Amino acid sequence: MSPVPGSGLAKGLAVTLKTMTKRSVTAQYPDAQPELPPRTRGVIALFEENCTVCMLCARECPDWCIYIDSHKETVPPAAPGGRERSRNVLDRFAIDFALCMYCGICIEVCPFDALFWSPEFEYAETDILDLTHERDRLREWMWTVPAPPALDPAAEEPKELAAARKAAEKAAAAAADSGSGSGSGSGQAGATGPDAEPGPDAEPGPGAGPEEGGS
Ligand code: SF4
Ligand code: SF4
Repeated sequence: MSPVPGSGLAKGLAVTLKTMTKRSVTAQYPDAQPELPPRTRGVIALFEENCTVCMLCARECPDWCIYIDSHKETVPPAAPGGRERSRNVLDRFAIDFALCMYCGICIEVCPFDALFWSPEFEYAETDILDLTHERDRLREWMWTVPAPPALDPAAEEPKELAAARKAAEKAAAAAADSGSGSGSGSGQAGATGPDAEPGPDAEPGPGAGPEEGGS
C-alpha cells in the first residue's frame, strides 16, 4: 500500500514540535563550562616526587605512548661504614595524548601512586605533535586531581597511620614511665629516657621510602 502523500512531512513536523517543548541540553561551551563528574578521566597527571622510574607504566601501556628517560646516581651511605646506593633520577616523562586511549592501565599499575586522573580537558592543540606533553605540564595537572574519597569507617587502618600511631603510643608510654620512675627514685629512668636506643621491634616511620631498585 502506497503511503499517504504528505505523511512523511507530518511525521517530521510532529518530531520537531515534540522536541521544541523539551528543555535544551546543549552546553554553550566555551562560554559556559560543562559540569563534569568529579572523577572525570580528563588527562593523566604525574606526581613526579613519587616516581621511582620503575618503568612499569611504560611497559604496560598498550599504546607505547609513555616516554621515560632517566640516569643513575650514586647516593653516599647514610651512616659511616654503610654502603653506597644507586638510585634512578627522572630526566624525562612524557605522554603522547594523540596515541593514548585513556584506558587507565598506567595509573592502575603504578606501584608508587605517581599517576592520577585529572578532570582537566582543555589541552587541545592545533598540531598533533604538540599533544605530547612533558613532565612539567603533567605535574601542573596534579593541582586539579580531586582528593581521594574518605575511607570506609569499617576499613582496615592504613599501615602508615598504624605505624605512626603505635610509635606515638610507645613514646607516650615511655615518657609516662620515665616521669613515674624519677618520682619514685627507683633508678630505672635511664632505660626509658629520651636517649634510649629504639628496640629491634621498632616500627618504621610513615616516611619510610620504597627500597631502591638495583636494576
Ligand atoms: S591511559 Fe592507557 S593508553 Fe594512555 S598512557 Fe595510560 S596505559 Fe597508555
Ligand atoms: S609506574 Fe609509576 S613509579 Fe613507575 S615509572 Fe611509571 S609513574 Fe614512575
